[in-house]
Amino acid sequence: MQFIDLAAQYQHLKEKIDKRIQTVLDHGKYIMGPEVSELEDKLAEYVGVKHAVTCANGTDALTLCMMALDIKEGDAVFCPTFTFFATAEAVAFAKATPVFVDSDEQTFNICPVDLEKRIKNVIAEGKLKPKAIIAVDLFGLPANYPELERIAKKYDLKIIEDAAQGFGGSINAKKTGSFGDIATTSFFPAKPLGCYGDGGAVFTNNDGYAELLRSFRVHGKGNDKYDNIRIGMNSRLDTIQAAILLEKLAEFPQELISRNKAATNYEKELSTHFKTPQVPEGYVSSWAQYTLVDENRDAAMAEYKEQGIPTVVYYATCMHQQTAFKYLGYCEGDFPVAEKLAKQVFSLPMHPYLII
Ligand SMILES: *Cc1c(COP(=O)(O)O)cnc(C)c1O
Repeated sequence: MQFIDLAAQYQHLKEKIDKRIQTVLDHGKYIMGPEVSELEDKLAEYVGVKHAVTCANGTDALTLCMMALDIKEGDAVFCPTFTFFATAEAVAFAKATPVFVDSDEQTFNICPVDLEKRIKNVIAEGKLKPKAIIAVDLFGLPANYPELERIAKKYDLKIIEDAAQGFGGSINAKKTGSFGDIATTSFFPAKPLGCYGDGGAVFTNNDGYAELLRSFRVHGKGNDKYDNIRIGMNSRLDTIQAAILLEKLAEFPQELISRNKAATNYEKELSTHFKTPQVPEGYVSSWAQYTLVDENRDAAMAEYKEQGIPTVVYYATCMHQQTAFKYLGYCEGDFPVAEKLAKQVFSLPMHPYLII
């Protein structure tokens, strides 16, 4: 049994994907070919935003947001401590300071109550300028945007939605990627919408941000790539990956239904034995992971292993516990909920071709 069965998906879509790849090989426009803009149009339409700007990966997508929002040294950016490293890495890479926030025990997402406490602390200290919040749609479940938007407005902060795991999710039919001022996703193969290599995208309704993103991703280009009006990066989505994603995006709504069916079946089977993930009213998860909480995690994982069922721990180490972030000076006990989750969570196989 596979944890994520990419081969089953490829078998299902093989003819269409092969044909799309062949088209790229025939026209030869490997960089920024026609499939890239076709995909950007379709992504924007699916998410329900004005602009989708693709790039090389989900980490670059976050870095491009830092650049578009002019986040820099001396700025505080609030983000969950229980997330994948890239969320906080992008902040530090922009020379700003990540300020970690504890998690909500039920949703695993950033806790709005703790967030407001940490914002007030930063203001009271007076050393950093509170600038933005990065909310992560962890394991596919959208963060609590109604509450985050209220807090952002109160303290004049931007919201960046890290939807690397959340693509396809929604709150009251409003899709992930459309929350906050700007949003990112990743097309890493194991994400809900993945390609066959690295890829990413940024979403926004803001014309000014979109223009900056399109410039930053090609060496800060002006009229063309040999007219350079700002310092940028080289971060484009390959045409071949865009071609693959076009076919995968067409199938994606169907896959989302299958993921939710699998989650419902898991809930039926497992809710008497484990603390199972709960989806708040009006929310839809894209189920990037199906994550259980168990005090005896090691024993539970060993039992599954014996039955030939692979399990993985996302994440055993919070950001404030990472060696790379030691310089921020956090201590054990600073984030009690996140630290407990890091010790007790583990994830079961989850993909649209799972038969359970
Ligand atoms: C995967 C992931 C990223 C980074 O995406 P890459 O495409 O691997 O660079 C960022 N944030 C979160 C929450 C992720 O899960």
